[in-house]
Amino acid sequence: MRVLVVEDEPDVIRAVAMYLREEGYSVDTADNGEDGLFKGVSWDYDAILLDVMLPRRDGWSVLSELRRQNKTTPVLMLTARDTVKDRVRGLDTGADDYLIKPFELSELAARLRALIRRSAGKSQPVIEIGNVTIDMTSRTVSVDGAAVALTAKEYCLLEFLAIHRGELVTRTKIYDHLFDEYDASLSNLVDVYVSNIRRKVGRELITTRRGMGYIIDS
Ligand code: CA
Repeated sequence: MRVLVVEDEPDVIRAVAMYLREEGYSVDTADNGEDGLFKGVSWDYDAILLDVMLPRRDGWSVLSELRRQNKTTPVLMLTARDTVKDRVRGLDTGADDYLIKPFELSELAARLRALIRRSAGKSQPVIEIGNVTIDMTSRTVSVDGAAVALTAKEYCLLEFLAIHRGELVTRTKIYDHLFDEYDASLSNLVDVYVSNIRRKVGRELITTRRGMGYIIDS
């Protein structure tokens, strides 16, 4: 899962990006509203964390412009102001959720998980595919009830394919969701992760469509 963090306070960016990367997300950042809007329009993020008070263009304006350009990426607003008026304004402008600063990183991560899940049309945090169970709350995978140890990237790839179950997912799309703008990993790493997942979870789960991508059949 790839997220964009639009925030101008270096300490907050650093802490949020580090925490989310440890959770296996790829994280792009922007420290002003113009840059945030440009990236938000240019890339297909799984979610955007958007601060309200930003240089060059505030969070409200970034959000309304994203929605005007028909970008439906889920947006979590980060607001320093805890007033009903601001929250209503955010939700009315098209924000999906908001968090009041200062916030706990664990709460941010939990809201992000819920947001991404809801936007994928999955209100239940558990996906079951045959004998494989993917728990998106604890980010764990089990086969026939026995836990399987996946790396953060392997988990993210499996979850991404599971959320898009029944759809062909191209290698490019997978790569874009697994790696961020700072990552110079090669795209054949996607194939390495898939083969690791097959080895750990089972050969049958993920089908290769040669020259196109991967699919978990529904
Ligand atoms: Ca700010």
